Amino acid sequence: MKKKKLLLINPGGKDFRHNRFYEPIELGIVASLVTAPNWEVKIVDLRFEDTDLPEADIVALSSRIIDINTTYDIIRHYKTKGIKTVIGGTHATLCPDEAQKYADVVVIGEAEGVLMQILKDFENGTLKKIYKGCTDLKYTVNRNYYKHYYKTATLQLSRGCPLACDFCCVGKIHNRTHRYRDFKDVVSEIKKTKQKLLFFTDENMYGFSSKNRETVLSFFNEMITQKVNKHWIGMASINAGIDDEFLSLARKSGCIMLLIGFEAIEEDTLTSINKKLNAKLIHDYDRIIKNIHKHRIAVCGAFMLGLPTDNERVIKKRTEFIVKSKIDVYFVTMFTPFPGSKLFDDLQQENKIIYNNYPQDWDYYNQNMPVYTNDHINNMRDLFLECQNDIRQPKVLRKRFLMTLFETRSLSCALYSNYYNFNHFRAFDRVKSLRIINNLFERYQKWIYKKSKV
Ligand code: SF4
Repeated sequence: MKKKKLLLINPGGKDFRHNRFYEPIELGIVASLVTAPNWEVKIVDLRFEDTDLPEADIVALSSRIIDINTTYDIIRHYKTKGIKTVIGGTHATLCPDEAQKYADVVVIGEAEGVLMQILKDFENGTLKKIYKGCTDLKYTVNRNYYKHYYKTATLQLSRGCPLACDFCCVGKIHNRTHRYRDFKDVVSEIKKTKQKLLFFTDENMYGFSSKNRETVLSFFNEMITQKVNKHWIGMASINAGIDDEFLSLARKSGCIMLLIGFEAIEEDTLTSINKKLNAKLIHDYDRIIKNIHKHRIAVCGAFMLGLPTDNERVIKKRTEFIVKSKIDVYFVTMFTPFPGSKLFDDLQQENKIIYNNYPQDWDYYNQNMPVYTNDHINNMRDLFLECQNDIRQPKVLRKRFLMTLFETRSLSCALYSNYYNFNHFRAFDRVKSLRIINNLFERYQKWIYKKSKV
């Protein structure tokens, strides 16, 4: 029997070219769940493959706002060939009306929940325009679908977040739910990864309730018992930074860095964006960073500039805090109102969004450009670039590497922080000594990858 071909494409627009950090996890999950024997599945990751787009019976693409126009171009290409296209992922979930103008099928929600139905309907010639997907998170990614590009194995323990910050669209994507996978499944998946470093894409691994906390602690204990012996990076809300039991078990299970959204350092700003937990802990930021370090974990701090209540003075103060703080990896972005967030709706209603010729203008929603009119600032882009320049000064970066080593007493944390900054933010172009350390570290990682058995 000749098999039908399902092609899964990760579009990987120009900002993602050769970004080896993430495996295309959404596609990996979908591919692993295709059980019908008459279907053959292939993943193409256009971040690495300069290939002519291969033919298939049906093509499915994940979508993100940042490369949505590349995604639509690929769909147009397949349409001219008469090949059916399916679009899923965050952008299609948040903007299904727009996505429908391009793709034959739009999946709102979790594509893995409806993919087999889509394939069946395709075979019967009864494809619908829209499918709504929801799953019980029962899956194990089969990594044989991936090629060898990825330095980090990408996994998920949970999906969604119990909090509701006004700038965030996670709540809308996951219908305000926060769900965990069976942690034993996650551990057995980890044991099959080749990479030494794992990245958890959970929007908020820690969550808020005691039940969630118990699940996470059990997960860490299972990793420790099973001796998985990996390093990992995850994301958590700021309350994780005051939970010593969480931090201690996290480290023992291999955590070397936590990404925490600090966003701002003023109580009124945080209150204005409904970041209540942070507003409550605002006077403890330094103590929280110190506490995480005490457990030998590095801190990747996310901050935003250009929020609706920001002015020039506030931005300069925030930049000063970032430079002086003991955060190991900076993640400073321009505030961008993403569709699905409350702030996007508010700014749209107030007619303040400048770039609103969609889909073309989604290209500006890259967290580097101001896309709306701020009442208090008219040189936002200059202030943003000034901040980026200040935090990437060679002397600041050199000091940071030694500071991480000293504060965490962990060479792994210092090397990974350096590696993360270097590769992700290309921050060390001007600091030769750190580049040399990073190159040596990369060689070491390659050696580990080759040595490891699946
Ligand atoms: S804590 Fe993070 S994931 Fe949760 S709503 Fe706020 S920004 Fe979004």
